[in-house]
Amino acid sequence: MTSPLTLFAPPTVTLPSAAPWFWELCLRNLPRELEDVITWADKNYRVVTKDSEYFDSRRSPWLLEPLRWADDPLTASLTVVAPVQSGKSSIGEILLMRWILSANGLIHYNWPTNDKATDRWDKATDKRLRACHAVRALLPGIYEKCFVKFPNITLAMQGVFTSGNLDSDTVDFVINEEVHAWETGMLGKAKGRQTRVTFPKFITLSNGGHAGDQLHQEYNGGTQQQFEVKCPGCSQHHIMRTRWEDNHPELGGLRYDSDGCKRADGTFDYNKLIPTLRYQFPCGALMRDDPRERRAVAAAGRYSEPFNTGALLTNRSVTYQAVACDEIRWLDLVQEKHQALRSLRSGDDADWRRYLQEREALFYDADAHRPISGVVEITRQLTKNRAGLKDRALRLAIGDWQQGYKKEGELTHWWLLIVDVDKACNRQVVFEGKVATDAELVLELAAHDVRRTACFLDASKNTKAILSFCYREGLNAVSGIESHRGYFRHADGTRRYYSMEKPICTEVNLPSKYQSRPVRKGGEVVMDYAPDEPVIINYNKAGLLKNHFFLRDMKANVLANNAAATPADYISLIVPGDVSEDFKKHMESWERAARNTKLATSGEPEEFRKLGKADHLLMCLAYADMILDQCELLGDQLARLGLKPELKEELTNS
Ligand SMILES: [Zn+2]
Repeated sequence: MTSPLTLFAPPTVTLPSAAPWFWELCLRNLPRELEDVITWADKNYRVVTKDSEYFDSRRSPWLLEPLRWADDPLTASLTVVAPVQSGKSSIGEILLMRWILSANGLIHYNWPTNDKATDRWDKATDKRLRACHAVRALLPGIYEKCFVKFPNITLAMQGVFTSGNLDSDTVDFVINEEVHAWETGMLGKAKGRQTRVTFPKFITLSNGGHAGDQLHQEYNGGTQQQFEVKCPGCSQHHIMRTRWEDNHPELGGLRYDSDGCKRADGTFDYNKLIPTLRYQFPCGALMRDDPRERRAVAAAGRYSEPFNTGALLTNRSVTYQAVACDEIRWLDLVQEKHQALRSLRSGDDADWRRYLQEREALFYDADAHRPISGVVEITRQLTKNRAGLKDRALRLAIGDWQQGYKKEGELTHWWLLIVDVDKACNRQVVFEGKVATDAELVLELAAHDVRRTACFLDASKNTKAILSFCYREGLNAVSGIESHRGYFRHADGTRRYYSMEKPICTEVNLPSKYQSRPVRKGGEVVMDYAPDEPVIINYNKAGLLKNHFFLRDMKANVLANNAAATPADYISLIVPGDVSEDFKKHMESWERAARNTKLATSGEPEEFRKLGKADHLLMCLAYADMILDQCELLGDQLARLGLKPELKEELTNS
């Protein structure tokens, strides 16, 4: 095969005898003469934001080499995996403008969705195109949003999710943005549009994604070059990475002393932490978060030799972390990391994943961060007793009605669970087992001093009869049926896995049990019910189980990260030693399913797998856990444990 370099051989050398149309094609696709890309960008590219009008290449030294490479006619593709707020979108915009000024053909500027594309067009692209004098001179008088026909080239900005958007003709120039959020397979589809282009450009700009995803493959296929700064200590070039590992000082990292900064509740006193914050380079040299020093170190930076020595230099991929970008404060990175780690400890990995992808520009491996499954521990020394928890805030009773298996000689019956809950949301089983009739259930409630308003019965099956029973006895109901798949909108605008309370009387077409009165609310007249009026709450099963397993696994997850944690650091379930074999069996009736490995079974939420046939007492406990969430006891305690309040939102809405 002829090296592509021969195409640019001086005229004195005999040219290979290619057909004239081939040479014409080459010339047509070669960029017209423009100044060096960096000089050009500094003069012509305006960012049009409040703080910086003109692009200043000196402020983003990590963008210079990728820009030069991408501008080189011989470079076919460039993949930049980089943190947020580090200017990587400028690479796309600068190239876009230079293509408009110098090339022919079609440009695709791809975003995850059409909404993202139009939003970006309105907020940035359109303004920046018009802010460049040369480009503005080529803009037609009237043009559509996201679609402009320039004299020699057409620009289409679009979402890749929309079917058909990637099916158009041969595309000469492609910019792919936010690829971490793209649907699988779309990157390949976008690339497929370039197979017939002589000098294609395929520019991919993104945060980190997931291990093994299309973005990761694209990065791995390229040269894999990492930004290195010039060390103030040894004057050698080192890669800067955020994570410090005690057993790998040769890799360097961001360090601070947590002794004396960590508060009893696990949060940090950042005023004490700041003076200890420093970057340790692989050679041992230290650097403080001094903007001038950091800028000088980065300005003398460059990209490493390819880690993928087998990649063609026409196929570049580069990366760097936020810790190397001198305009991003290290303290912000540390605080964000701490916040994310707190959520991770409780078994929720969304913040941690976001932190790694957006700040450390890494590819996230979900299986390495799956929540640990906790076992239901049994306290042998304790027996079930009416006294329950000493400082209980609430005694809850939950009933699950059963038709019974006729062939096993069973009659209808209830599974009943009574739990005490303290202010810290710790729960203790007070009673669990079967009761034969409605009357026995009511007697059991009385024997355990359960307030009627603190009793909830599952009315998912035998609905009419159970709702009538609840109404008669002043008890509440919960219900989860196939149609309750989505989330429920609440009056405050949030969406949750459980609905707002509805009075049972309106469900069974009876007058309210206690006195109610019409009141004016907004422009409407609505019924104001007494606090004791029996209510029904609908739920969806995925959210219900998520909340239950989140609480159940919290102790194991907290201890896995901090062996010195005490019961004050998590929420406990206290199970007396004399619980029934049924209780123990039911507790093991569901488990978390491994991600993306489970075949969908109808009626089973994706994230969980049902193991045993009978799950009644587990479901009763899950209903109790939902009531703790619903009455806000859970949210308050999560806030006290230093878990951010939005965690509950994420948990229930995601
Ligand atoms: Zn050094």
